[in-house]
Amino acid sequence: MQEFIREFVLKELDHEFGEIPLAALDDAAIIDGIVFTTDSYTVKPLFFPGGDIGQLAIAGTVNDLCVMGAVPVALSCAMIIQEGFSAEDLHRIMRSMNSTAKKAGVRVVTGDTKVVEKGAADGLFINTSGIGKRSKHLDHNIKMVRKSRQFKWNWPNDSGVSAGDVLISSGSIGNHGVALLSFREGYGFDTTVKSDAAPLNHLIEEALKVGGITAMKDPTRGGVANLLNEWADKSAVGIRIREEDLPIDEAVVSACEMLGIDPLEIGNEGKVVLAVVPDMAERVLRALKSRSEGKKARIIGEAVKDVRGVMMETHTGGKRVVEPPVGDPVPRIC
Ligand code: MG
Repeated sequence: MQEFIREFVLKELDHEFGEIPLAALDDAAIIDGIVFTTDSYTVKPLFFPGGDIGQLAIAGTVNDLCVMGAVPVALSCAMIIQEGFSAEDLHRIMRSMNSTAKKAGVRVVTGDTKVVEKGAADGLFINTSGIGKRSKHLDHNIKMVRKSRQFKWNWPNDSGVSAGDVLISSGSIGNHGVALLSFREGYGFDTTVKSDAAPLNHLIEEALKVGGITAMKDPTRGGVANLLNEWADKSAVGIRIREEDLPIDEAVVSACEMLGIDPLEIGNEGKVVLAVVPDMAERVLRALKSRSEGKKARIIGEAVKDVRGVMMETHTGGKRVVEPPVGDPVPRIC
């Protein structure tokens, strides 16, 4: 995907425009103080344990805004609907979008609908875009970072991590991908794992109120492995994590063992990883834990100078290089 983006997007489009430009390939761009992001949802099946495409389309875009430290303001929703699609299902999906948007405190204010003939789409695809803005909590956060060290950005971002920063996961990882796989035909396993798809803006606001966050990212496609490698690469730091500190639910561990999938490579839709300056990390952790979405939050590692890329200390005391995932272990989960 990175190669594809370089070859077809960055090579062909002007990409240096804005405070956080397209070239940064971050979760959202920042142009004239406006935070702007877009995402298309092609999840299969449309309804899955713990959620549906409507919930996902709102949560995913809200999360890409709030991991930049922004307050989500409004969303668009464009649907590509296959001819003959069930009206009942569409009502259900739209209701789910509305209730997820309410939870996040945002509204869908514009959109588009296209109907295509059978075979041209797979039921329903949704694209949502979103805009967000600065808040006083974000200003406070940046102020707290600068008490610790120089920080040239006005936003937490993928390039903002420095050696010494503490890495926190807001909760257990791998649930969304495993929930989807368990529901698909042909995999033949049963699990109680549910998708974690949910908007993160209220949780992140609590963390920003404490302050000291230099980078945030939602571990969606490619999971935590991809996220950490992006940070290591864009911030030019090493990253060390400890396997025993990774929050992974028992049912996710056993499903991954059975399927031969690395939970670090599975996409999540309701989690955020934060990099925090060292003296604020414990307080940010406590703030995350104060909300139900963050009660399983844990420190998983830190940014370091003496490692190249991403290295994990394993249960057995060994060391394992965590590579960016090559393929997609679970396709069409978002
Ligand atoms: Mg993202």
